[in-house]
Amino acid sequence: MILERQIDVVNKIKISDSFGRTFKTLRVSLINTCNLACAYCVDPSASPIPKGGRDNASKLSPLGVGDYIKIISALNNLLEFDTIRLTGGEPLLYKQLVPLVKGISNLGIPTLKMTSNGTLLDNKAHDLKNAGINSINISLDAVDPDISYKINQRKNLQKVLNGIDNAIAAGINIKINCVVMKGYNDNHIIDILEYCKQRNISIRFLELMEMGHLHQNFDELFFSEKDILNCISSHYQLTALKRKPNATANYWKTDDGYTFGIISNVSNPFCNDCNRLRLDSYGNIYGCLSDNSPISIIDCIDNEQQLLNKLMKALSQKKQKFSGSKLSMMHIGG
Ligand code: SAM
Repeated sequence: MILERQIDVVNKIKISDSFGRTFKTLRVSLINTCNLACAYCVDPSASPIPKGGRDNASKLSPLGVGDYIKIISALNNLLEFDTIRLTGGEPLLYKQLVPLVKGISNLGIPTLKMTSNGTLLDNKAHDLKNAGINSINISLDAVDPDISYKINQRKNLQKVLNGIDNAIAAGINIKINCVVMKGYNDNHIIDILEYCKQRNISIRFLELMEMGHLHQNFDELFFSEKDILNCISSHYQLTALKRKPNATANYWKTDDGYTFGIISNVSNPFCNDCNRLRLDSYGNIYGCLSDNSPISIIDCIDNEQQLLNKLMKALSQKKQKFSGSKLSMMHIGG
């Protein structure tokens, strides 16, 4: 694959591959642990399920606020990001989250978003909004306590729902992400759609991706975009909407005017115009979810040429189609 490096008129370096792909969104996995044990991230046969994520958190987030700001700023100087998304693991377990958000906001990157399970959001929503978070994607795979417990092994659905309400009250734009898994929540799609529709919250259903431990029984769990659409179209007439460039989801409108999305990484891969770069909590970058080889940038933050070479290497990792990964999403950042 041909990789290009160009100097444009204002002397900014641009890197792109032969498909025109570059890096415009940075996903930062702030911390390598989570306080839930969702079936798609954590192998249920692995024991024991780690509890007390908050206490373990500092050991698993080696980078401090200053380190993150330095790394993100150096990358942004070369790439001029449109968006930073803070994720994990669970980003709300990162103890210095609010100062970090403030620091990233001061870099002037247009959009600062977060992906979270929402369990610790209820009393932090206002601070995060004031610090500069524009929008949060909340993972909500069920609105029924038993189904929720079956998926994430924790009894905290009500806390998540409170967190959603508080974030909306704080003026944060909320989107719901729901991973659909056969045998877990595939018969709950309409209930969760109705929950979001009644509150006018946007929902995207996610096809399960073959990551981490899921290699063993992926086919048994996979519920496709077509299956999801069949289920919803037995309740509503649907109109497909045009996909926006670089978007992760395709969208449909119901006959009563509600719009929902499906992120179908397996049925309809969106790799052709993927503009994402990932940074893990140890200072490694990854150019593609399908390539789990870490590229450490921790020692070359002050050296623009070396950093650029590493970014070119990360860009060369980008595949044309998602081909699975041995890494669970909680390590590489969802
Ligand atoms: N803890 C946060 C959360 O729950 O949103 C952030 C990290 S989580 C890994 C980010 C997203 O990845 C979630 O929306 C989750 O649903 C999704 N995810 C994780 N593993 C997945 C898989 N194998 N297939 C599809 N989505 C997955």
